[in-house]
Amino acid sequence: MPSQNLWLRAQQYYRRRAAELLFRRPLSISPEQPLISFTFDDFPRSAFLVGGAILKGLGLTGTYYTSLGLLGRDTPTGRMFEAQDLTSLVEQGHELGCHTFSHCDSWDTGASAFEQSIIENGVALSQLIPGMEFKSFSYPISLPRPETKRRTAHYFQCCRAGGQTSNVGKADANQLAAYFLEKSRNNILAIKDLIDHNRKVRGWLIFATHDISDNPTAFGCSPQFFEQVVQYAVDSGARILPVIRALEVLQAPGQIREAAQPSRVSIARARTPLVQATAAPTKALVSILIPAHNAQEWIADTLRSAIAQTWERKEIIVVDDGSTDQTLAVARHFEREGVRVISQINQGAAAARNTALALSQGDYIQWLDADDLLAPDKISRQMEAVELGGGRRTLFSSAFGKFMYRWYRAQFVPTELWSDLSPTEWLLKKMGENLYMQTATWLVSRELTEAAGPWDTRLLSDDDGEYFCRVLLASDGVQFVPEAKTYYRAPGAAFSGSLSYIGVSDKKIKAHWLSMKLHIGYLRSLEDSARVRAACVSYLQRSLIHFYREDPEIVRQAEQMAEELGGRLNVPYLSWKYSWAKLLVGWSQAKRVALVARKIRWSSQKLWDEALFHLEDRGPVGQSGRVKMQPETSAKSAARHS
Ligand SMILES: [Zn+2]
Repeated sequence: MPSQNLWLRAQQYYRRRAAELLFRRPLSISPEQPLISFTFDDFPRSAFLVGGAILKGLGLTGTYYTSLGLLGRDTPTGRMFEAQDLTSLVEQGHELGCHTFSHCDSWDTGASAFEQSIIENGVALSQLIPGMEFKSFSYPISLPRPETKRRTAHYFQCCRAGGQTSNVGKADANQLAAYFLEKSRNNILAIKDLIDHNRKVRGWLIFATHDISDNPTAFGCSPQFFEQVVQYAVDSGARILPVIRALEVLQAPGQIREAAQPSRVSIARARTPLVQATAAPTKALVSILIPAHNAQEWIADTLRSAIAQTWERKEIIVVDDGSTDQTLAVARHFEREGVRVISQINQGAAAARNTALALSQGDYIQWLDADDLLAPDKISRQMEAVELGGGRRTLFSSAFGKFMYRWYRAQFVPTELWSDLSPTEWLLKKMGENLYMQTATWLVSRELTEAAGPWDTRLLSDDDGEYFCRVLLASDGVQFVPEAKTYYRAPGAAFSGSLSYIGVSDKKIKAHWLSMKLHIGYLRSLEDSARVRAACVSYLQRSLIHFYREDPEIVRQAEQMAEELGGRLNVPYLSWKYSWAKLLVGWSQAKRVALVARKIRWSSQKLWDEALFHLEDRGPVGQSGRVKMQPETSAKSAARHS
């Protein structure tokens, strides 16, 4: 029926326009030489074995948009690639692009499901070829819905659709046009015309197809035909490059400017000692170092809070410590915003921190755990204190508030550590009165960092407590900057991954004891007075509950140490609520009951806070009022959907 036909055409027109007009990433196409890229979707094995050989024969490379869920399968476009094809492709210099894991239809699939399939494909790739990632994308089957386009753009440097034309003038990197060869496989002249046109206007022509075989499917073409097209493209004087290389050529002037910056920085660092920083206009570089392990639910918000720092001269380094969830995939999506992401096999938080530190260039170090948040002016406020004459050996701290989800409800409860203190006074208060400062509160100069030495990788628990003890020891004292604010996600929110939680694991108990012995040694090295010894005894007494009945040897050592300090340890006190359990099942079991009860309490608080957080919808840290989370929500929701 003609009316139905008209309706279909109207629908198609709407689709095309909607996606074309919205969420554009302008890309100016003005290469010195016209550009042509050859791409294959899905991809059928013959695209590599036959098509790839034709390209290689002429010294060229192409882009293979891969749906890893199709690996080894038979599909309407023929027999698909095998795992070893992927490594061979990369070795030969071809580009591996992303085409979603399940080859889902770009229009018919909901935006979140589509996004999930993108992440799944990336995870599958990194499992097949460790360290490998997709940089460009092609939309399967249809044009994307606007929301799908918006989300997809966050993951790739460019995305390709269809459109049977070349990219000229101001193109859209989020929806590059491509020409499907199979649609003109009986009309080589049409293709030659397009190549000629591309030469004249100095455009970027992206060809796409599927299988290359003597009996091609409806979606592919024959080797002879393909070879003719490639040869004509070469003869046109165009540069033939994989999509991502062509994009680099187009963005080259910008890239040169950006690349020049870090080298200026390193020259400045090498030649200008920090003492002259006040005389020179160059601002200090601050490194924000983030160790991450299984933090897929939190890391996007943490990274946003780092990126949002109003202190402009910063570098952000994430070290993923062998996460088994999608932490790495989520972090990688922030690379476009300048975040550097490194992954290593699981070695513990201290090792991850050492890796980040080794890579950092900053004059000051901001440590940030992958679930905590910084107020946007946190670093700026502390750097103001630096500029007002804080010495290079001054250690800066800030206020911190605990939260689970609702950062705007964080409670800032001052303690005696929230003031300017000498190293001895600070440690005395910490150990004698059971106080602490959260890791992210500190801002540490390079000089202090170097004096303190690396993180102690033996410490599975309280590695941060021990590390900042050493920083403190090397410092002239702590300057507290009350205007600087840090948001500390309470351990109940990230219960299983929390490092401050000692629990009943044997390794952690031993590591905690080691950290305690180090603490006592540090404090006594500063001052060996009666008040120091008393503080050490009270520190031992308070921690005894972690070792009591779990490790008699540690308890024996602790008792001996207390005696040397002139004190005595008593049987630890377990809250009266659990004394019935103690009578029934003995001390160790009662302690476990107490831990389980705490866990249950925390999870219910967590659920409640999470519900209110989504309900109240206040958005990322630092925004006031009811501002919706607008940009870059994709990584967050991706994590949530997994
Ligand atoms: Zn496809």
